[in-house]
Amino acid sequence: MADPPAVLVSGASFAGLATAFWLTRLGYRVTIVEAANGLRRGGTPVDIEGETIEVLSEMGMIDAVRAKALPPREFVFKDAADRTLGGLTASRPEDAASARYEIHRDDLLDILFAAVEGAVEWRFGCAIAALENGPNCVSVTFTDGSQGDYALLFGCDGNRSNTRALAFADAGAASYYMGGYFYLRVVMETGLLPADRTQVFSVPGRTAMLNGYEDRTDIALAFRSATPIDYDFRDKAQQRRIVHDHFDGMGWKVPEMLAHVDAEGDFYFDQASQIRMAKWSTGRIALVGDAGYCVSPVAGFGGSMALIGASRLAKALRHHPDDHEAAFGAYEAGLRPFVEAVQERAATTGMAMLFPADEAELEARDRKIRAGAIDF
Ligand SMILES: Cc1cc2nc3c(=O)[nH]c(=O)nc-3n(C[C@H](O)[C@H](O)[C@H](O)COP(=O)(O)OP(=O)(O)OC[C@H]3O[C@@H](n4cnc5c(N)ncnc54)[C@H](O)[C@@H]3O)c2cc1C
Repeated sequence: MADPPAVLVSGASFAGLATAFWLTRLGYRVTIVEAANGLRRGGTPVDIEGETIEVLSEMGMIDAVRAKALPPREFVFKDAADRTLGGLTASRPEDAASARYEIHRDDLLDILFAAVEGAVEWRFGCAIAALENGPNCVSVTFTDGSQGDYALLFGCDGNRSNTRALAFADAGAASYYMGGYFYLRVVMETGLLPADRTQVFSVPGRTAMLNGYEDRTDIALAFRSATPIDYDFRDKAQQRRIVHDHFDGMGWKVPEMLAHVDAEGDFYFDQASQIRMAKWSTGRIALVGDAGYCVSPVAGFGGSMALIGASRLAKALRHHPDDHEAAFGAYEAGLRPFVEAVQERAATTGMAMLFPADEAELEARDRKIRAGAIDF
């Protein structure tokens, strides 16, 4: 009997682990190459609802997710005097159709990793250095100099995807700037707000957000900038200064938040952006998750979209077992309208609700909040 086809997955986060999970079940021999030396941990929790619940059920993981689900969280908008303008109460719907869970990013990574750990070949601390997308296979040279031929390659390597850059002619134009920047830091302190709450305070062009949990707090600061700003992404001191330049003098709990910006420790600073590609596949290579269609943190749906994308891709490969082009075409045709709707909503309603750009947008948003018409 012939060996099962060897395939390569680049990236070991939600898209990569979920894609690898399905590929092993479809009978492929899977190698995962991940640039970091282990799973990349940290970040804010992931929302699990709708199709994502179905997907995790099909993967046999929904009970593990439920066991780690965070308590429901109240979400409120505040004014400068810390009075509540309005918001959403903490509730857990009892009916299955509207069920919704939130789980720490690391817990979901661990659940996915456990399901593929022994079933794939791992290449941590390594990346694709060059590739040739040939008619019969993708020939890959890795950063350690080794080489391999793969029947298919899946780029699951995030919004700065290496696979996209190496294989797609339009990769350079894929990033869609949404008009702002955000800072995020998770601190193991809980003094800024009670557990199981999210609080948001905005002034024109600037928003401060706190997510409180039992054992930690997310500190998020976002500001608008009509055009992208120039900074060195390795220079953390410069990024802290940029945050100060935009938030010094702002009221509410921002001075306490800025004290955490100044403290030692890892943080995330980036533009709010999406990935919008003309096509998600080329030859024997397909993109999954943020690499192909990042919806941005504003959408609050990146983790779910990666899981949905991997599942839809697997279904397309199952329907077209001997025709990767038909499978990749079906995967994209089925998922693209949903992705575009989520992206559009994040770039318009989501930005206006969470990061109002000016006085008029802020007033319109606050009127909606007071009327209980929160939509993002
Ligand atoms: C550490 C971390 C923290 C995050 N925190 C948040 C957050 O707080 N809020 C939010 O909305 N989103 C966050 N995200 C993004 C979120 O995980 C994604 O939007 C979503 O889960 C889609 O997942 P993905 O697998 O497509 O991409 P990602 O989760 O970005 O994963 C991409 C993976 O590819 C790996 N990789 C990158 N380059 C290469 C390369 N050249 N070769 C091989 N592997 C490579 C990365 O190390 C990473 O493991 C975070 C991502 C990471 C990696």
